[in-house]
Amino acid sequence: MGTYVVSGSASGMGRAVAERLVAAGHSVIGVDIKDADVVADLSTAAARHAAADAVLDRCGGVLDGAVLAAGLGPIPGRDDTIVQVNYFGVVDLLIALRPALARAGAAKVVVVASNSTTVTPAVPRRAVRALLNGDPAKALRAVRWFGKRSAPMSYAATKIAVSRWVRRHAVTREWAGAGIRLNALAPGAVMTPLLSEQLSNPAEAKAINAFPVPVGGYGDAGHLADWMVFMLSDAAEFLCGSVIFVDGGSDAYFRSESWPAPVPAGQLPRYALRFLADRRARRRFG
Ligand code: NAD
Repeated sequence: MGTYVVSGSASGMGRAVAERLVAAGHSVIGVDIKDADVVADLSTAAARHAAADAVLDRCGGVLDGAVLAAGLGPIPGRDDTIVQVNYFGVVDLLIALRPALARAGAAKVVVVASNSTTVTPAVPRRAVRALLNGDPAKALRAVRWFGKRSAPMSYAATKIAVSRWVRRHAVTREWAGAGIRLNALAPGAVMTPLLSEQLSNPAEAKAINAFPVPVGGYGDAGHLADWMVFMLSDAAEFLCGSVIFVDGGSDAYFRSESWPAPVPAGQLPRYALRFLADRRARRRFG
């Protein structure tokens, strides 16, 4: 039986996956702002580092897996917290916990992203770049919509950035090379307290209910948790750097023709350069 850390373990999808892991006989270290083994407000860097230390203490320096589910929805006026929790609350924890994941030899990590990554139009690339460069202030300046801050833009920018971070790092020596499988799950609208709060605002409810979901209705937190358990299992050994959409078909509805996309011939030199650089690094570091 393994030891897993689950952020966002007090509610919704994080809670559902923690319950499933415990029911299967695993140990779970829950991290949340309330009702958790490690109570931490992941919106500050200091609390993130303290939370990681507390998790490392509790797991004895070895973790078989992690689920990063703590996050906020696109709540108006909370852009700063959205950026801090949804992006840095994932990345800072994962960087601090990576050595413990590596020690397990075959650890699996699931980052909860969102289908807002591909169904939200006009998310500024500058905001995504700023997050990946570790600059939250610049990201917040960039996520303006007609001159005003926009929570849906901030939210989608954090989820795009965190998905890219997963894909960039998953394939490296430090992650894939250390036996860690790092992947993301991108849910659509799932019935959790986060979605209920959005639906309690009539304007937001109207927009959410008008949104095309080919299979209809909302996702179920338990079903999403089942996907996470699968992504933490041995069956996911060959899954690396993937972003799995479980969204009732909205992503496919909007992007059926744009993904998978062939590589434009102009990008081939970039592929070749990356491959050669990696080969050189492999030779140098063994
Ligand atoms: P939820 O609100 O039920 O759970 C989120 C958890 O994160 C809560 O327990 C909350 O306390 C915790 N959290 C929030 N701020 C925190 C902070 N500052 N520090 C520590 N913990 C904090 O929501 P959920 O729907 O289960 O969301 C889980 C993840 O799924 C989130 O990252 C969310 O963005 C993502 N997501 C949700 C939906 C949806 O429709 N529910 C869709 C796509 C993606």
